Amino acid sequence: MHALVDGVDILNFASNDYLGLAGDARLVEAAKEALDRQGSGAGASRLIIGNHREHVELERDVAAWVGVEAVQLFNSGYAANTGVLTALLREGDVVFSDELNHASIVDGCRLSRATIAVYKHRDLAGLEQLLKQHAGRRRIVVTETVFSMDGDIVDTASLAEISRRHGAHLIVDEAHAMGVMGPEGRGVESKADIVIGTFGKALGSFGAFAATTHAIADLLWNRARPLIFSTGLPPHVAAASRRAVQIARSSEGETRREKLRAVIARFRAAVPLAGGEASVPIASWLIGEDRQTAELGHRLFEAGFLVGAVRPPTVPPGTARLRISFSAAHTVEHVQQLVEVARRLVVR
Ligand code: PMP
Repeated sequence: MHALVDGVDILNFASNDYLGLAGDARLVEAAKEALDRQGSGAGASRLIIGNHREHVELERDVAAWVGVEAVQLFNSGYAANTGVLTALLREGDVVFSDELNHASIVDGCRLSRATIAVYKHRDLAGLEQLLKQHAGRRRIVVTETVFSMDGDIVDTASLAEISRRHGAHLIVDEAHAMGVMGPEGRGVESKADIVIGTFGKALGSFGAFAATTHAIADLLWNRARPLIFSTGLPPHVAAASRRAVQIARSSEGETRREKLRAVIARFRAAVPLAGGEASVPIASWLIGEDRQTAELGHRLFEAGFLVGAVRPPTVPPGTARLRISFSAAHTVEHVQQLVEVARRLVVR
């Protein structure tokens, strides 16, 4: 988990490469093999002539992994969220969105022209209240499962139950859970109508998907504008993602997840007050004051550690924090070093 920044070797605690696959030789090999066979570009939108074997094989493998009928690839998680939300929602519908949802979800809601009902972070009672208020309209609930800035998790079982009881569809974004959480790393395992995942984080590649039913996948293929009006993913990128999925599902994937859990546990033992769930590879170390947080991030960088120094407006005022993300490529010694140096700097 080293990174070269301006020629200086630093330990990287700021990337989303949770399984340490982004530099893996097998992903590189899979991409090279496809590059040699298919060339460097898809050639057009998949709906025109840009549909390649690598896309279809990847969709089939992800469907088997996540345990759904069908998967629709997208060129990124941003394109997946905006594409899915705009394909399914129209004026007059209501979309219920957690206040801390990712910008790609916020933008998808806005572009859809549906009425947007924002509920407080993970407040399922508040969500239910809003669902009742908007009874009689077509309704979709959308949330991340693992939240990217706080490292906390929504109660997906209750969320699915509430959505079903009120006749609303549920979309979950598992960007920070896919590859990391659940059996075979297939996510938080909610009973959602659509699960969004990205290949750009734990899977060390690029691109994204919506895992769902045949009927919804067909609808996305025909209506999702980022699919229709954009060149397909380069086939070699899909080939690398496919290799990453195979690794994530395998016993090696499980070994990597165990390593990751050990690294997270070491940090949480040393910094028990850090925010985020014990199983999530994101910890938020609250500092509070903006300038102090920026200064601390800078000093940590000078000491050889890259962490996110997150300040408003990304997070609410007064909650500036270090966002630290962990990887199976870290060792517990790396974590120990980070904690010791950070402590020394905070105290000063
Ligand atoms: N959803 C969430 C929750 C994310 O954190 C991100 C990436 N920051 C995305 C979607 C976008 O994914 P991608 O990087 O594949 O566009």
